[in-house]
Amino acid sequence: MPDLPRILCQRPRKQSNGGSATLRDHSSAYRRLCATLIDDEPLCRYCRSEGRISPATLIDHIVALSVGGSNDRSNLAPACAYCNAAKAIVEQRFVARGYEVRDVMLEPELAGWIKKAQT
Ligand SMILES: [Zn+2]
Repeated sequence: MPDLPRILCQRPRKQSNGGSATLRDHSSAYRRLCATLIDDEPLCRYCRSEGRISPATLIDHIVALSVGGSNDRSNLAPACAYCNAAKAIVEQRFVARGYEVRDVMLEPELAGWIKKAQT
């Protein structure tokens, strides 16, 4: 058997136990809920709050799981990929600065995103 490149011989890395990926709900009930939310509200809520019309292509956690949000329906908003990515950058900055979860509304940019989803 020929020598395999070293990368192919390595065992796959285990997923870490932290981060939002482990907090995310992967159940079929959650997937159905997301599909229902997009059916009921097919436009990006964040864009709509600023008068733009963009199709929602995914479901965003209004308060990100990484900053203490939940998978509850009240914390979910249909969003476009652009808004989801832009908001994620703000959330990552929030986490990197070491803010406490309870301070989520004290960070003006993040609070702005959350308020847009709640309108
Ligand atoms: Zn949007």
